[in-house]
Amino acid sequence: MSEDKALSRRDLLKTGGAAAAATAVAGVLPISKAEGANAGLPRWAMIIDLRKCIGCRGCTVACKSEFGVPLGRWSAVVKQIESGKYPKARKDFLPRLCNHCSGGKEEVPPCVKICPQYPLDRKEFVTPDGKVHKYRDGATYKRPDGMVLFDNSQCIGCGKCIEKCPYGVRYFNPFVTAGKDNTKNGIGKCTLCQHRVDKGLIPSCVNTCQGSARIFGDLNDPDSEVSRLVKEFNLLKDREKTTLLPQEKTEPYVFYIDPKNVLKAYKINSKKKEAEFNDQII
Ligand code: SF4
Ligand code: SF4
Repeated sequence: MSEDKALSRRDLLKTGGAAAAATAVAGVLPISKAEGANAGLPRWAMIIDLRKCIGCRGCTVACKSEFGVPLGRWSAVVKQIESGKYPKARKDFLPRLCNHCSGGKEEVPPCVKICPQYPLDRKEFVTPDGKVHKYRDGATYKRPDGMVLFDNSQCIGCGKCIEKCPYGVRYFNPFVTAGKDNTKNGIGKCTLCQHRVDKGLIPSCVNTCQGSARIFGDLNDPDSEVSRLVKEFNLLKDREKTTLLPQEKTEPYVFYIDPKNVLKAYKINSKKKEAEFNDQII
């Protein structure tokens, strides 16, 4: 396993909402280029370069290890996509995770909007340079830096978010109880490794990816690798081809570089493949 790769110094300075990050960079002025209402804020995004995924599933293992994801559940998974017919048959790999959707015009993802435990109190997200951005807390909620997170201490275990997510990335976690006295299970899904990112580290799946197919960073920084790739491959403007289920209009912030149209093949076969794959114990 490779050593932990840190975010760039600039990214570290922008990991807001984290006392640890603030401590790590105490006395150093942030270099965030975001202005106006987003001053000092990163906008985290994940880009998956399907040309580079070799299907090793190191990301799945790293995620399972980082979070103790139970058998039969996943927060990061790699689907195997078969398309075409002999002699043009193909096999491709499609890594999947929560898309950390912006939620479109309303800026509230469907999983957050449906949650009966949202909105709760207003919370403050403080950037390392002391800029305060307020947001609504809840059992599931979106942080101002774009991370869609959950808090099982506020959850009542109703499962509405699981049903509402069009991408099927949420699950009941049998190891976690919802709320304080609730007998139901809480939920699980990808958190973009918020605990690592807030300390200046990249997500565990990105850290372990042998093919360097996963790229994580700040879209509010025009000099970041994700900004460069978004520009080069027109990822934001061409969401029809670069994100899963664009018709749902959830505006994912997980983008795919997909010159071979793997996403299209996945959508065509999705039901069958999901059923096949989800039966496997991972
Ligand atoms: Fe919510 Fe699903 Fe979008 Fe993740 S992928 S933010 S769980 S709607
Ligand atoms: Fe909200 Fe928990 Fe219900 Fe999901 S299961 S909708 S997080 S209360």
